[in-house]
Amino acid sequence: MKVRVGVNGYGTIGKRVAYAVSRQDDMELIGVTKTKPDFEAYLAKEMGIPVYAAGDGFIQRFEKAGFDVAGTLSDLLEKVDVIVDASPGGMGAKNKAIYEKAGVKAVFEGGEKANVAEVSFVAQANYEKALGKDYVRVVSCNTTGLTRTLSAIQEYIDYVYAVMIRRAADPNDSKRGPVNAIVPTVEVPSHHGPDVQTVIPINIETSAFVVPTTLMHVHSVMIELKKPLTEKDVVDIFENTTRVLLFEKGRGFESTAQLIEFARDLHREWNNLYEIAVWKESISVKGKRLFYIQAVHQESDVVPENVDAIRAMFEMAERWESIRKTNRSLGILK
Ligand code: NAD
Repeated sequence: MKVRVGVNGYGTIGKRVAYAVSRQDDMELIGVTKTKPDFEAYLAKEMGIPVYAAGDGFIQRFEKAGFDVAGTLSDLLEKVDVIVDASPGGMGAKNKAIYEKAGVKAVFEGGEKANVAEVSFVAQANYEKALGKDYVRVVSCNTTGLTRTLSAIQEYIDYVYAVMIRRAADPNDSKRGPVNAIVPTVEVPSHHGPDVQTVIPINIETSAFVVPTTLMHVHSVMIELKKPLTEKDVVDIFENTTRVLLFEKGRGFESTAQLIEFARDLHREWNNLYEIAVWKESISVKGKRLFYIQAVHQESDVVPENVDAIRAMFEMAERWESIRKTNRSLGILK
């Protein structure tokens, strides 16, 4: 029997999760919600995805435009086993009461605080923690990126300091900036370190800057080691870590621009780069310190985690079976 999935909030993350769910043979996408009849709503309908109004208050907008919705969020909730809440950050916590009342499980995203859910989730790090749970939070794009690589070398880590260079806005966002400035997150350490700790117990501190780019985030990671590790060891470990790929500057991957071009060349939907990209030449060990630099495609790295979270919540597969299934369905390279 397929798990019936709805998506509340059909934006950057919601539409990618809806697509990923529709690629699974053990899940069925029942519908998505929209707040207004914009081009995304029309396209979803054209693609055969039932579109629901995100609440009673939004119905009038659709009626005015002559856009027939399949119902409202409450109608969608009656038809699904789980709802993925990909509404703007903070809204998921408000929506939780609606899901509880409807008796529907929910996956929340990284814009929510950790206490919205029973567990904060990155599939390869703590899949089992989500088994049978009703409320799971897929952590943010940055936290997912840090957790994927750090969990692979966790046993060697004494302390991590990471600098996050964050994209200013997503490519479709014409409202946010900066256009010509570097904005430090003046709360140091930044919230990213504690967020990683919601998934893996690790000694980590971070600081963050927002820069004028839309493509990807970049992390400069510095680690104090408690057990010896060579550069080759790290390369071998990352080569064997799912959803992490090594890229070489020597092969033309000079910046995030070429990483995104690579995803385009793979004919990935929306040029998604689900994998965390580590620059191979940046992996460097100096005595007891390990350094590396990685890039995170903020629009897509969390998408496979949403699929795995659903499998864990319904105990449909064990960790590696789910990860392999999701990877195959989305063309994730390893
Ligand atoms: P988005 O703004 O692109 O999409 C949110 C969608 O929700 C929009 O379509 C909006 O119209 C809709 N919406 C607004 N009010 C709503 C309501 N009351 N009910 C239902 N839908 C409503 O946002 P996003 O970037 O997709 O972010 C969604 C979540 O994913 C947030 O928690 C965010 O922090 C997290 N996240 C975002 C990124 C990213 O880089 N974009 C990465 C990882 C996680």
